[in-house]
Amino acid sequence: MIRVVLATHNAHKVAELQSIVSRVRPDIEVVSYDGPEPVEDGTSFQANALIKARAAAAHTGLVALADDSGICVDVLGGSPGVFSAYWAGHDKDDSANLALLLDQISDLARDEDRTAHYTSVIALVTPEGEEHTVEGIWPGRVAREPRGEGGFGYDPIFVPDGDDRSAAELTASEKNAVSHRSRALEAIVPLLEAL
Ligand code: IMP
Repeated sequence: MIRVVLATHNAHKVAELQSIVSRVRPDIEVVSYDGPEPVEDGTSFQANALIKARAAAAHTGLVALADDSGICVDVLGGSPGVFSAYWAGHDKDDSANLALLLDQISDLARDEDRTAHYTSVIALVTPEGEEHTVEGIWPGRVAREPRGEGGFGYDPIFVPDGDDRSAAELTASEKNAVSHRSRALEAIVPLLEAL
């Protein structure tokens, strides 16, 4: 059994990553990180994922995985991007964040003007200092109003390509099969296999 620490305090992300890791590597025991949280002051998903994974690897002495993710809206030049969690202010309020985003593009009526994608970058850092990052993208568009109770964050207003439902109307296993995080984690499988 190999132990890998997940450097996130977000319970939704821990659950998603645990279920994905157990599908690809059932012999990996995933533990969550409860050490000090570093300042995420990077300006890219890659930089922030590495900051979090380095801190967890250094604190625990285990191989660390960290995800940094967000929603990128084309008409907003890729924003909210790395600022997704704080888009409406520092209290990380999911419903305020999505309400502000809806408001910012409320004059765009056509679906083709509302394209967006989720991005997830996963960093893997070993205690010896080996570092890797991989990226997963989940394309879609921003809906006109929130729908659904599942998922978290912007899921009620994100409609993935090829579906009419919002990400919050998908079951957890439907989301995990196609999400940006599962795509990034699939890209990291060869690195997990090499551990
Ligand atoms: P992080 O915790 O710094 O990676 O911030 C990620 C932020 O991006 C979250 O707080 C959400 O607002 C948004 N986000 C990332 N992944 C998802 C997802 O799968 N569904 C909905 N929102 C997401």
